[in-house]
Amino acid sequence: MGIVVDNVSKQFGSFKAVDQVSLEIKSGSLVALLGPSGSGKSTLLRLIAGLEMPDSGRILLTGKDATYQSVQERNIGFVFQHYALFKHLTVRQNIAFGLEIRKAPAKKIKGRVEQLLELVQLSGLGDRYPSQLSGGQRQRVALARALAVEPEVLLLDEPFGALDAKVRKDLRAWLRRLHDEVHVTTVFVTHDQEEAMEVSDEVVVMNQGRVEQVGTPAAIYDNPATAFVMSFIGPVNVLPNTANIFQRSGFETSHPQVFLRPQDVIIEKTPNGATAPAKVSRLIHLGWEIQLELTLDDGQVVTANLTRDRYNELQLEPQQRVFVKPKDAKSFPVYYS
Ligand code: ADP
Ligand code: MG
Repeated sequence: MGIVVDNVSKQFGSFKAVDQVSLEIKSGSLVALLGPSGSGKSTLLRLIAGLEMPDSGRILLTGKDATYQSVQERNIGFVFQHYALFKHLTVRQNIAFGLEIRKAPAKKIKGRVEQLLELVQLSGLGDRYPSQLSGGQRQRVALARALAVEPEVLLLDEPFGALDAKVRKDLRAWLRRLHDEVHVTTVFVTHDQEEAMEVSDEVVVMNQGRVEQVGTPAAIYDNPATAFVMSFIGPVNVLPNTANIFQRSGFETSHPQVFLRPQDVIIEKTPNGATAPAKVSRLIHLGWEIQLELTLDDGQVVTANLTRDRYNELQLEPQQRVFVKPKDAKSFPVYYS
């Protein structure tokens, strides 16, 4: 057993930052907490770390009740977005820090530090100071430092948030490979759905202090449990259930809104019984895919994405008449605004 969060709540004043959250994180897995800013991700992570105390509920770490344990007793590694390394210590000394405090034998420290330098691919840079490293290298040192004391749980709060897009993408892939080597139970906070999907075994989607859904990246994408999850996980058209595009295709629901992903809009040049007429009102080239804005004859505006191949096949032009139907659409009992 890894981490169990059992009906945990935390309020700041009258504001419910974490609201009756229950969660099980399997030992050795890498789980992402994903949600918009202010949804309670960092608070939940800090509760797991022991940096905050819950108002109610329990936290279990590897089977033991840790609710009232101190941070030190929990044996946790932590990396924040801006986890300043000790500026006056070299990379090697930074990584060794936790082991020195615990008075580990010098020989053991030396071996462990070299092993970690290799693990985070910074072998040649052990004698540099933090100011002589790039942002991505610094976060790798922070991760090595967190791993040095062999924590049972590793908590990462938007660790790549301050880095530029290319470096972030590289580090994500790197973190995934690292995790496959060390298998320490890891909770990774991010507001970036692509980052969550790429890195993690399971995604926990949070909204307003609550868990909306827990599942593999594929399950969250293919079977979103709520309107919030569907719209947070990727772009989506939200249309009334009376729109022509649904009536013609036979998609029926009693819920007032229907959610349709841009890549699930089928476009044809000739009508058939199931399609609705539309006009191409805008055409945007996004590299490997083409985004279309379609105005249906009933006035609804729908965004559609086409692969370049399909676009070339159709030879579409602005203002052209087309015929559309949904490949897949979803509706949910609760109104979404
Ligand atoms: P996230 O990490 O998802 O952006 P947080 O957990 O940091 O969200 O914050 C959730 C909400 O709780 C926010 O509205 C934030 O302002 C509030 N909050 C967090 N920590 C405190 C605190 N120490 N005092 C008062 N409000 C807080
Ligand atoms: Mg946060």
